[in-house]
Amino acid sequence: MIDAPRSTKPLTLRSWLKRLADTDRLAVARPGVNLKHQLAAIAKRMDGSKAVLFPTPGGHAMPVVSGFMCRRDWIAEAMQVNESELLQAYRHAADNPLPWEEVAPGTAPCQAVVHKEVDLRTLLPVPTHSEHDSGPYITAGLVIARNPANGLQNVTIIRIQVNAKDRMAVLILPRHLYTFYQASVKLGQPLPVAIVIGVDPLTLLASQAIVPIDHDELEIAGALHGTPLRVTKCLTNDVRVPADAEIVIEGHILLEDREMEGPFGEFPKYYSTAEKREVVQVDMITHRKDPIYHTIVPAEMEHLLLGGIPREATLLAHLQRSFPGVRDVHLSKGGTCRYHLYVKMKKMREGEAKNVILGAFAGHYDVKHVVVVDEDVDVHDPEQVEWAVATRFQADRDLVVISGAQGSILDPSTTVAWGNAEIPAHLQGISAKMGLDATRPLQYHSHVFTKVRIPGEETDPAAMLEQGVSPKASDLFRE
Ligand code: MN
Repeated sequence: MIDAPRSTKPLTLRSWLKRLADTDRLAVARPGVNLKHQLAAIAKRMDGSKAVLFPTPGGHAMPVVSGFMCRRDWIAEAMQVNESELLQAYRHAADNPLPWEEVAPGTAPCQAVVHKEVDLRTLLPVPTHSEHDSGPYITAGLVIARNPANGLQNVTIIRIQVNAKDRMAVLILPRHLYTFYQASVKLGQPLPVAIVIGVDPLTLLASQAIVPIDHDELEIAGALHGTPLRVTKCLTNDVRVPADAEIVIEGHILLEDREMEGPFGEFPKYYSTAEKREVVQVDMITHRKDPIYHTIVPAEMEHLLLGGIPREATLLAHLQRSFPGVRDVHLSKGGTCRYHLYVKMKKMREGEAKNVILGAFAGHYDVKHVVVVDEDVDVHDPEQVEWAVATRFQADRDLVVISGAQGSILDPSTTVAWGNAEIPAHLQGISAKMGLDATRPLQYHSHVFTKVRIPGEETDPAAMLEQGVSPKASDLFRE
């Protein structure tokens, strides 16, 4: 965490990248990096330590950046809070959206350059990421659409396969965008969309908010910024997009067309199989002068944290509504920031941890394994959680197993032998749930459940240690 005065200017992608560059957190790639695999391989190796800028990827004039949100402490820094306040601050923004402020169409920075004739394959430096991916994918595209019934917007990030110069295939999971699309199909109209690439860190985070339908995630972006987000109307449809975005692809999801999409390496670090999926027809591309293209390397920390932190914020609020003793939650990295939830609580009564386990399963269908621990365990440290399981858990009385619930369709273990391929959609993702109550009993004899501590161990011992190599010490070891 960099100590800096709370900035009053809204955070932009460019100011954030400059901040990373000025503090040696942005690596710059040499020319000649290939858009196929090489770019993603370099970004993956740097994931969690530095963002990477590729000034001329594959000889393309448009630079690509990746990994600028790949650490939890960077996300807290972008939100100008301490890491311990991150979830509450995010939740506060999600609960208190700020209506956006409209900029006249054609005047916004994201519309400085207009391409009426489009060729995605030459206009944008779209990387191919993983070994078995079908080809180039847009992975950091915010898909914005309006509810055909009332015009309220939704923002989501979905994977987008570039199929032709003006066509892309998309995976639409059964959530808000899908509902809008279904409504649009009913009206016999294609659904207008905008795909926005290159937004500031807070707008990216807002796009992943778990909020009810018709809660416009761009208003949550405004709340995270502490000032209304500037938006502008697309030039070919009514969708409002962040005015300061780098690139906007305007288009519409076709009514009946389906094209093969996949395989694609997804967040659980496995491939989704190829299937026929919905198609976006591109109408126009606009962008800033000298735009920057953002790619998220699938299954790496930028991807996992952007989804994980908003989920943690939602799950914490959800659990605290029923269980005031719940103090913190964490979706662990090993559980791909989706499947493994650790809950820290101050247990008031025996049995309560099992209620918390059941509550957590109800919080989000992705939650598969839950571990509940006491207040003296840091849920952000998997070693401490494992210690609690090792010493406070007995499988015959502290284990909760539920069969045949709905889980993540991207978890390949949900269906035996063949994964979810070839299985009808309504039968996909059927999953067991497991909860571990790793809390100690409320009452116990003497110190049997007291964590060993040495008085003074929290104090930095530097003041009581000789500095540098002590001549006295080497004297001690003379033969
Ligand atoms: Mn939504």
